[in-house]
Amino acid sequence: MLNVTAIETFYGPSQALFGVDLSVQPGEMVALMGRNGMGKTTTIRSIFGLTPARSGSITFESHDLRRLPSYRIAQAGLGLVPEGRRCFPNLSVRENLLVTARPGLWSLERVEALFPRLAERRTQMARTLSGGEQQMLAIGRALMTNPRLLVLDEATEGLAPVIRQEIWAAIRELKAQGQSTLIVDKSLTELLPVADRCTILEKGRTVWTGEPDALDDALRDRYLGV
Ligand code: ATP
Repeated sequence: MLNVTAIETFYGPSQALFGVDLSVQPGEMVALMGRNGMGKTTTIRSIFGLTPARSGSITFESHDLRRLPSYRIAQAGLGLVPEGRRCFPNLSVRENLLVTARPGLWSLERVEALFPRLAERRTQMARTLSGGEQQMLAIGRALMTNPRLLVLDEATEGLAPVIRQEIWAAIRELKAQGQSTLIVDKSLTELLPVADRCTILEKGRTVWTGEPDALDDALRDRYLGV
């Protein structure tokens, strides 16, 4: 459903991506991996037109995403949970969820079933939530748009262990429900078991794509080691 081919992306004069290839098939959970600064977030920003690619192609179903502004990319069926949470601080949890709602499988009830904490806090202002709860709300808001492809960038980073576990449980539930997802996360222990496929970036290039079982120690040391 998503096909990214040979994209090159720049920040001003400085080139960040030198040829990224990536694909997501319907129902797949694809992990985008690589050490810090290798281009994962820039790839996501390019897909959503936030830092547009200068060359290469990005297609989603029948859409040529490089020709669309960001709001049309969201309308085409992509949902982004960006690094760092973005909710409306002075709206309640429930209002935050309802403002992004578009008709489809996901409803307030289903999001609240996925994240019971959001149900418990539905009338609280978003600004009173903990960081982890705000992250759950950010994921819930993305789901309320009923995206055919969900994109999660570091959704569990910097959160308390108990909250991280709740978010991973939700991600496993999304996988069980067949939600197509592109996911960036530093926790390989949690990420590899849910990934159908992994794509590794090194210095702005795709250097490996394969199933998690094929990701041996040599590859880990070479591309993912700290
Ligand atoms: P991390 O895990 O640290 O988020 P990443 O794999 O997502 O890393 P990117 O954030 O995509 O990597 O960064 C790729 C390259 O682009 C890096 O060399 C980084 O320094 C550079 N870069 C990122 N954002 C900007 C920016 N706003 N302006 C200039 N260069 C940037």
